[in-house]
Amino acid sequence: MDIIFNNVSHSYMKGTSLEKKALNQLNISIPSGSFTVVIGKTGSGKSTFIQHVNGLIKPTEGHIKVGQYRLSAKEKRMDMRSLRQDVALLFQYPEHQLFEETVERDICFGPLNFGLSAEEAKVRALESLALVGLPETILGDSPFHLSGGQMRRVAIAGVLASRPKVLLLDEPTASLDPQGSQEIMDMFKEYQRTNGATIILVTHQMEHAVNYADSIIVMNDGEIVLNGDRDQVFGQSAILQSLGLELPDSLRFIKKFANAFSLADVPSYYQRDE
Ligand code: ADP
Repeated sequence: MDIIFNNVSHSYMKGTSLEKKALNQLNISIPSGSFTVVIGKTGSGKSTFIQHVNGLIKPTEGHIKVGQYRLSAKEKRMDMRSLRQDVALLFQYPEHQLFEETVERDICFGPLNFGLSAEEAKVRALESLALVGLPETILGDSPFHLSGGQMRRVAIAGVLASRPKVLLLDEPTASLDPQGSQEIMDMFKEYQRTNGATIILVTHQMEHAVNYADSIIVMNDGEIVLNGDRDQVFGQSAILQSLGLELPDSLRFIKKFANAFSLADVPSYYQRDE
């Protein structure tokens, strides 16, 4: 599903003394099937931005097109159920949203709610468990008796079981160790590849932008300050530095190494001068 923001602004608590303009006239087009990573300082508007895509927050001005859906302050008769089936949002710590007695019931909740039969939902549960790297033997277990990492995978399986066409991810790897974090990111990339899904990921981890993004959006103070592929965005090191968005030391090391030895096969965004 293509996603198009047309002059979108959003103000929290509009008309009060606490009014805060969190998005300021955003115009952006995100192609269907792409993996977009959104970076920016805390408070720059990243979460507000992605929550507009599934209608959780409505624009105060402008409109958004998500495939056939059109979202604006005026839209009254939106079929939110159908929109939410197509566009899933995964918050930080998705395991906090687990609530059923068994893993199977938790994962099947979405598919059943969206009209699949019990048998179809079960097939989806098995497929989704495989996708997140968990054995089907845990289907009868309580999700609350699993490890933290497994709980997060079950919660993600529950979201993927509805086969969303658009996946909005707000820091889905928060508090995971580097290996767990990479495994989860690899899963999302695989989901994008096999389902042709559009993914928008909000993250503080620059390496996710380097490793997974087809395109990167840099936000500051409710505006998009950079937007492009990795070379275009990481080539703007002065802007990134001014926003405190520098490549982590490990990537800088590779960058220096690449400069020293002129390795032709090292991506160019590692090779630029400081
Ligand atoms: P980010 O995800 O980049 O940290 P947010 O989208 O959460 O940024 O916030 C953007 C701005 O909007 C911040 O100044 C934040 O304090 C403000 N904000 C976010 N949510 C609310 C809310 N529910 N009520 C009032 N202000 C909010």
